[in-house]
Amino acid sequence: MSRPFVLDPLFRNLKVLSGVGPKTLKSFERLIQGEKLFDLLAHKPIDLLDRTYAPDIKDAESGKLATLDVKVIKHTPAARRNLPYRVKCSDGTGSVDLIFFRAYQDYMLKHYPIGATLKVSGKIDIYRDQPQIVHPDLLSVGDDKGEVSLIEPIYPLTQGITNKTLQKAIQSALGFCPKLPEWCDADYKKQQKWSDWHKAIEKLHTPDKQEDIDPHAPARERLAYDECLANQLTISLMRHRQKKKKGTAFTTNGSYRQECMKALPFSLTNAQMRALQDIDYDMSAPSRMMRLLQGDVGSGKTIVAALAMMNALDTNHQAALMAPTEILARQHFEGLKALLEPLGVRIVCLTGRNKGKERDTLSQQIQNGAAQIVIGTHALFQDSVQFQKLGLAIVDEQHRFGVEQRLKLSNKGNGVDVLVMTATPIPRTLTLTAYGDLETSKLDEKPPGRKPIDTRLFNIEKLHDMIEGIKRQTAKGARVYWVCPLVEESAMLDATAAEERHQVLESIFGDKVGLIHGKMKPAEKDAIMTRFAQGDLSILVATTVIEVGVNVPEATIMVIESAERFGLAQLHQLRGRVGRGADISYCFLLYKQPLSATAKERLSIMRETEDGFLISEKDLSLRGAGDILGTKQSGIPEFKFTDLAVHADILATAQQDAKLIIQKDPELKGKRGEALRTLLYLYECDQAINYLQNG
Ligand code: ADP
Ligand code: MG
Repeated sequence: MSRPFVLDPLFRNLKVLSGVGPKTLKSFERLIQGEKLFDLLAHKPIDLLDRTYAPDIKDAESGKLATLDVKVIKHTPAARRNLPYRVKCSDGTGSVDLIFFRAYQDYMLKHYPIGATLKVSGKIDIYRDQPQIVHPDLLSVGDDKGEVSLIEPIYPLTQGITNKTLQKAIQSALGFCPKLPEWCDADYKKQQKWSDWHKAIEKLHTPDKQEDIDPHAPARERLAYDECLANQLTISLMRHRQKKKKGTAFTTNGSYRQECMKALPFSLTNAQMRALQDIDYDMSAPSRMMRLLQGDVGSGKTIVAALAMMNALDTNHQAALMAPTEILARQHFEGLKALLEPLGVRIVCLTGRNKGKERDTLSQQIQNGAAQIVIGTHALFQDSVQFQKLGLAIVDEQHRFGVEQRLKLSNKGNGVDVLVMTATPIPRTLTLTAYGDLETSKLDEKPPGRKPIDTRLFNIEKLHDMIEGIKRQTAKGARVYWVCPLVEESAMLDATAAEERHQVLESIFGDKVGLIHGKMKPAEKDAIMTRFAQGDLSILVATTVIEVGVNVPEATIMVIESAERFGLAQLHQLRGRVGRGADISYCFLLYKQPLSATAKERLSIMRETEDGFLISEKDLSLRGAGDILGTKQSGIPEFKFTDLAVHADILATAQQDAKLIIQKDPELKGKRGEALRTLLYLYECDQAINYLQNG
């Protein structure tokens, strides 16, 4: 099975289009983030230019975009350089001057011949009582069609590509557009008043009224639905496959598990208990677990993970926990070692830092089973790392791994159970698209005794007052995170560099101030973190490297500089570094005026709520899905037609439909199944296609 021929035109290179030459090709590719016709056809207009106002010249209003039917009367070439060339035209009710700069007479006479009838369009200027249009667009000359249409879709552009060039290329691409077999359910399509796929694509690029640009226009909704359906079909197929594969039926009440439970210095929250029940249910089943554990920073995911690992150990399997950064891996390791080593559990940590002999020893321990639990970074993916008998893979994801990597780790064993943990609560719709292959458990409750975080906004001009406050707090032993957005001063973004801030604070607080950023060596970072955790440092100036999972319960103040630059999810994550102990905590958001409307709203949301799930929904509606997590690393697919902030209901429908389809026809064999395969090829859903080919 290979790609249906009918799709070939859509996969052709842009080069075949008229208007796309060797020079513009690169610009086109940059603009549409792709190189095939379908990518171009997915480039949506964001507005339209309406040229339907067609008055008599005598009525033409100044400042308006007008289209005039006129006859060419006279040419007046420029008397001097820098003066314009004039073409006088009339429609019987009055005359209009068409104004051109740097025009050549030969060219002008050829294109605007005297006596010819023209349809011209442009903004009317009235200059000394004389209407004129500077550099008008030509809609037609006599019977020849010109270069623009009455309604012109306006596209996002890039350097080197004008709207006209783009429009021309897209019109040319529409000429290649095939008719595709219908994959939509006939009744549903009728009910939604949707047209065929190729009609919808055509309509997308030939809007004739403002409503056609709306994301809820039928053509746009149809295309969004198609895309969501492809995405959800892939997910349903993957899940179908996972369910077919055999896993291990783990014991969930063995002795390690019981001992670990007893060793906990606290009792689990209800949310932790519910999540653990879900996990136990999955792990004890003979099929594989594919579960997502969602919970805010500090909600206690790590303990849940540890208890799940005990199931693997009790069934004579190994467990692995993979973290996105070195710091986080080490921290998980230290925490889990303290809890588990007393129970006789053998636990190791493997990261990129382990080299040579040390690494060999670790690899050996992992391979011969001497290590029961392995904590690490993506170093665990490497082929050289072989497990004796991996039973459970936990990925502390924080949006840094994707579906593929998840699979890679789980393939390190036979029918490995997978638990993905994520600390950024993400909106429901995104969960569906990115983690639809996973069942979810939520930790929507914090461990008891946590005080709310007092969040305040500070104009950077009040920095001095705030520092005075911090002096008082640190004198009493408070520990402070101070987050700066960029590592080095950049002329483009005048973000306060962490290094510079560090110097300033050092001059005030002396050697109690530390600095940590992404360019430091892992060992240096660890050393600084340790000093901060132990209280040798009161203030830790940091870039967002500390965003990820660092746990210092004694830290009670979080300062975020240029808070207006951060997204809501990130602010929320950063704030979650404090409020982990029993003392009251503060979060100071420093901003610089003027604030944009969205920035203002973001900051006030931060002040109003600590509910990560609520914040994530707001983030989605404020920013749109594209930006929300930096989709590239997040495993969240990039959509061409779908705006998840707008099309949530369409996604939900597509999910339902995909489930039904896979229930009825898991191999996509029927007539509709055939069409659905075409859809999967259109969207290059490789995983799904691969599955259909190989089972
Ligand atoms: P997360 O990984 O979700 O960010 P952690 O698992 O690191 O959260 O837990 C944060 C802190 O809360 C840790 O110090 C942990 O020991 C503590 N903790 C976890 N669960 C509970 C609980 N049920 N009661 C009290 N403290 C808890
Ligand atoms: Mg954690």
